[in-house]
Amino acid sequence: MKIRAILLFGSPGAGKGTQGKILGRIPNYLHVSSGELFRNLRVQNPLGQLFIDYASHGNLVPDEPTIKLWRDDIENRIRNGQFNPETDTVLLDGIPRNVNQAKLLEDRIYVAGILNLYCRDLDIMVERLQARALRQNRLDDANLETIKTRLKVYEDETKPLLDHYGEDLVHTIDSTQSPVLVLRDTLEVLAEIEAP
Ligand code: ADP
Repeated sequence: MKIRAILLFGSPGAGKGTQGKILGRIPNYLHVSSGELFRNLRVQNPLGQLFIDYASHGNLVPDEPTIKLWRDDIENRIRNGQFNPETDTVLLDGIPRNVNQAKLLEDRIYVAGILNLYCRDLDIMVERLQARALRQNRLDDANLETIKTRLKVYEDETKPLLDHYGEDLVHTIDSTQSPVLVLRDTLEVLAEIEAP
């Protein structure tokens, strides 16, 4: 049985994590951030080391170990009763990150919709990332060059996913707005996906 998934989509700094944390409190929704899965690894873990090597330069971790990390996590959550594939929806934040990852996930999930958080103002995004770097100790956001690489990787590798899934699934939300207004728009879209 395939897991029902809704993708939280958007460039770094668009606000996926902020919305995901709130939406994950709704009954039957589970928020899973791939960035958090990586950050929760121990540095002694070889994958944790790989993550540091790639993320510190703003690059994506290779696809196979990334997808395995996600699979192991969701199967654990199913086993311990945190996620019930028969009734629940997973809100995927940060994964898949390119078309190859989407293909690697296809046998386990089906995508019911995509919440595309779109921030038209590049300066706002860069400011958000730099503010977060200090608050959350995110070294990948501390340096302007790394931020630029992350934004470029998003444009080159991640954004093509929107075409891959097709426009019927994509719901674009203006994430230049305040978190409350983004949340309102996001909830409207979620309601529409649930009861079209
Ligand atoms: P953001 O949403 O701001 O880009 P994330 O927390 O999602 O931040 O990701 C931080 C870093 O973790 C990425 O730059 C990348 O190195 C790594 N990462 C997270 N998810 C993936 C993924 N699906 N594939 C490859 N690398 C990933």
